[in-house]
Amino acid sequence: MKQVSLLGATGSIGIQTLEVIRLHPEQFSLYAMAFGRNIEKALPLIREFKPTIIVVQDEATKVKLNKEIDHQQVFCGGEGLIEASIADSVDVVVNAVMGSVGLPATLKAIQAKKIIAIANKETLVTAGHLVMEEARKHQVELLPVDSEHSAIYQSLNGEKKSDIQKLIITASGGSFRDKSREELAGVSVQDALNHPNWSMGAKITVDSASMMNKGLEVIEAHWLFDVPYEQIHVILHRESVIHSMVEYVDRNIIAQLGTPDMKVPIQYALTYPERLDLPITEHLNLEDIATLNFERMDMERFPCLRMAFEAGKAGGSMPTVLNAANEEAVQLFLEGKISFLDIEKYIEQALENHDRIHNPDLSTIISIDEETRKSVRFHLN
Ligand code: NDP
Ligand code: MG
Repeated sequence: MKQVSLLGATGSIGIQTLEVIRLHPEQFSLYAMAFGRNIEKALPLIREFKPTIIVVQDEATKVKLNKEIDHQQVFCGGEGLIEASIADSVDVVVNAVMGSVGLPATLKAIQAKKIIAIANKETLVTAGHLVMEEARKHQVELLPVDSEHSAIYQSLNGEKKSDIQKLIITASGGSFRDKSREELAGVSVQDALNHPNWSMGAKITVDSASMMNKGLEVIEAHWLFDVPYEQIHVILHRESVIHSMVEYVDRNIIAQLGTPDMKVPIQYALTYPERLDLPITEHLNLEDIATLNFERMDMERFPCLRMAFEAGKAGGSMPTVLNAANEEAVQLFLEGKISFLDIEKYIEQALENHDRIHNPDLSTIISIDEETRKSVRFHLN
């Protein structure tokens, strides 16, 4: 029986993780759960799964929650996320919070030698060098939840790193894949949230539409698999059937295919190295799909992807700035304060205004993250 600590339990990945846990009561039990402020969504989950530890975003939410339930161990904020990640009984930490807020808890969980199933890509983008260094030091493996990285992980399957020619990451293209740059000028929040293939949280759905999600995934892949940016390739693949591939020096390509359903990579990360039945997900029917399409990725059409490659290659503090500016700009877009195309402008501005710091430590990353967010808000006024 694996005891799970689930950070981001009320989110899109969180809820699907709970569906997997619910399917296999013999294998998994929810020891800790963390969420933000959404008490309404959390209450039935708390009643059903009866976690020992509950974490909420702030003191005010804790007060509200305590009026609804009588629970011994309710923690708050970043400290709470750490408590939930390092508790002795916890075997696996599923990090599915949204944004760089997940970073300190990930580092502490690694130090406590927990198995880490990582959905929270912003953590790897903002501080990949720190996370991977810590993972190497403590000999902890990070199991990817992101579907592309789960695909690469499975396609690598014990092969030698020196035999990798390139990683080929597939992109569905998001909500606006058939719109021209001119048409993008007037799109609404509702249009952006309408993803053709995947049902996900609001921020990542906007990231998919801007192609920043793929950019973050390139940086995530660079850190998880220790492959240089020159050997990471992105192609458009509208069907989301091939979730990513690895090409080897001898021209063999190994791909992973599957139903576009996040429960598949979530369960794989939870059961690795074993596999379990997943009866709640449809089998992939290739005869129904019939055709798979691939297109070249256009970096002019999707400047967020270009900026992510550039920030990744520049290294140091640049990915931290890229990520923080993107998180803040997407939030402003969701609040209706800026247009869709403003997102890329704000990111470009933040990157231009930043003087790169070579090997930032945790406190430097946290302060650059805060400064970048402030400067994005400042330009708004
Ligand atoms: P959601 O926005 O749906 O969920 C985010 C979760 O994090 C919610 O439970 C939210 O709580 C919680 N949360 C947010 N801020 C805090 C905080 N400060 N303290 C504690 N909890 C917090 O996001 P997704 O599930 O879509 O994505 C989560 C992560 O997984 C992201 O990094 C995303 O990039 C990655 N990912 C997601 C995929 C998907 O299919 N959704 C696919 C691949 C990766 P509350 O509900 O109370 O606000
Ligand atoms: Mg993905």
